[in-house]
Amino acid sequence: MAAPTRYQVSVTFTDECNMRCVYCTTAKRKVFITPQRIDRVLHLLERTAPASLDLNFHGGEPTLVWEQVQRLNAGLHRIGSDRRISRNLCTNGTHLDAQRAAFLKENGFDVRVSIDGRKSTHTRFRFDRDRRDLDRSAALYDRTLAGLRALIAADVSTAANMVVTAETVGALLSNAVFLIRQGLIHLVISPVVGMPWPDEALVMFDAQLRGMTPIWQKWMQQVSPRRHEDLRRSILSEIDRAAYCIGERMNQPDARILVIGPDGRIFGDEPDVRTDKALVIGHIDEIEDLTELPALPRTAFQLMYDRAFYAPHVLRDVRRTHRLLRKRLTEMYGVLFPHQPMVIDRSAG
Ligand code: SF4
Repeated sequence: MAAPTRYQVSVTFTDECNMRCVYCTTAKRKVFITPQRIDRVLHLLERTAPASLDLNFHGGEPTLVWEQVQRLNAGLHRIGSDRRISRNLCTNGTHLDAQRAAFLKENGFDVRVSIDGRKSTHTRFRFDRDRRDLDRSAALYDRTLAGLRALIAADVSTAANMVVTAETVGALLSNAVFLIRQGLIHLVISPVVGMPWPDEALVMFDAQLRGMTPIWQKWMQQVSPRRHEDLRRSILSEIDRAAYCIGERMNQPDARILVIGPDGRIFGDEPDVRTDKALVIGHIDEIEDLTELPALPRTAFQLMYDRAFYAPHVLRDVRRTHRLLRKRLTEMYGVLFPHQPMVIDRSAG
């Protein structure tokens, strides 16, 4: 098999998290990546032909093992002289402060923070470990928002992962405006998977998505044109992601996707508790080069549909919500960027 020109490798630092969001599909096993495993990942990356690398620092909550985040980052600097490497951190933000934000800025991270908008929406489904303690959940939201603000103050490239449910969809636009006012451009709107979407909620989702276009039009009039490109790229990336969730293809079709678990297992796509076993393609201790790994014939979402990991009505809702999302984002793109082709030039960074 020809060696890929781009790898997207997600390292799962731990399955554990200090939060318990109702819609989370991570297993919450108390497994943490060890320094030896980080070194083994670096060894494999070093031995693999120097293709471009997008390295995702994932969890659970990766900031719970901050020393290992730093260790992997330092190792990437050592092996990075002959290849382009991007670093991406997914976090709930509760363990970020000015010092960590400065570290992320210095090392060129893109950061995605899980925040659904204002406190009243966020705390509907995102809880503390002890789900009954609403005060602690509210306090955690304050820490997420503080973490987000620390990132923005340090000028870290930051996106928001906004999960939307049938119960919160009516507040989608106001939450989006709230996050845009914090300084965000890239809003990853994720219709919840595994909770019901009645027809009236879909109608509301449609109306709220349509309302995004005039908001961004107004925003474009107010900011420097340099920032328009960030918005353009973020919309394209979300159209791609919707196609992945519909089950059409990989999220990044031009990249080889690998996910490395804290126990060293290697998956061919992003696993969740249901798809976990079906996606295993190897173990970091059993290979010497990433090109030895077999290609995965089906993505996580395709397996989810093929093997009916959820009830039929849930699978139908996943397709319906993501088709709607793709349709409205594509229309939005046409209105906001009528003269620009729908492609991202990755060589431009
Ligand atoms: S913050 Fe993320 S990893 Fe943690 S429980 Fe929520 S969705 Fe899951």
